[in-house]
Amino acid sequence: MSSAGTGLRYIDTHCHLFWDDFALDLRSVILRARAAGVDRIIIPATDFETFEQARAIADQHSGVYLAVGIHPHDAGKVTSCYLSRLRELAAHPRVVAIGEIGLDYHYDFCSPHVQQSVLHAQLEVAQDLRLPVVLHNRESDEDLLAVVREHQDGTLGGQFHCFSSTAEYATRVLDAGFHISFTGNVTFKKSRLDAVLANIPDDRLLIETDAPFMSPVPHRGKRNEPAYIPLIARRFAETRHQSLQHIAAITTRNAERLFSLDRQRGE
Ligand SMILES: [Zn+2]
Repeated sequence: MSSAGTGLRYIDTHCHLFWDDFALDLRSVILRARAAGVDRIIIPATDFETFEQARAIADQHSGVYLAVGIHPHDAGKVTSCYLSRLRELAAHPRVVAIGEIGLDYHYDFCSPHVQQSVLHAQLEVAQDLRLPVVLHNRESDEDLLAVVREHQDGTLGGQFHCFSSTAEYATRVLDAGFHISFTGNVTFKKSRLDAVLANIPDDRLLIETDAPFMSPVPHRGKRNEPAYIPLIARRFAETRHQSLQHIAAITTRNAERLFSLDRQRGE
């Protein structure tokens, strides 16, 4: 990787290392990430089963943190006791957020009504436990913002992950007190995200791969992995007219603050 050896350190704030794509070479994936300066990775689970898989990875590797939650695709599967289970699992010392949670109106896995009620319940848990949230949004801009705003009493923090909406929407997300995070999607030729990315304030910007999905150019269409974070960071730097050093520093500081990583045990 050409970015190796720059001495810059990054946090991949959203990476699904439990996915089957990593089953055969997880150790090398993590070693390549470290060599590229990505020495901390947050793995958001999508349900309780994937949380167990993510937890096993965190048990074996330092610098790996977890989020626990029910993804909107799986909102229809929840049983009546899932909220107490969520609270139990969130007590794990490496858990830094509730996620990923949110709304997805692109796929028809679960009705908007059920998705919203599962989201409301999980936001309540996050607020009770004083944890930030990792938010998934697909074709649900208005409803997602309306739901999180209902809970925003000044204490709720969170990440609008894989942001792909408009500059106008980004402004409303920022006004509601949330951070905005981009993946390899900002490197795509037709991304239309340049103006959005350029205008996110320094203290609200996060970086993520969303691996194994959303590979940045020139790996588009192939498996993504956390070692590609510097490719995304370079695009941030070009678009925002800031140095790579500055991008590494602000995205790291923002992730540390939002997810309280400096206070985390279990390094
Ligand atoms: Zn995700």
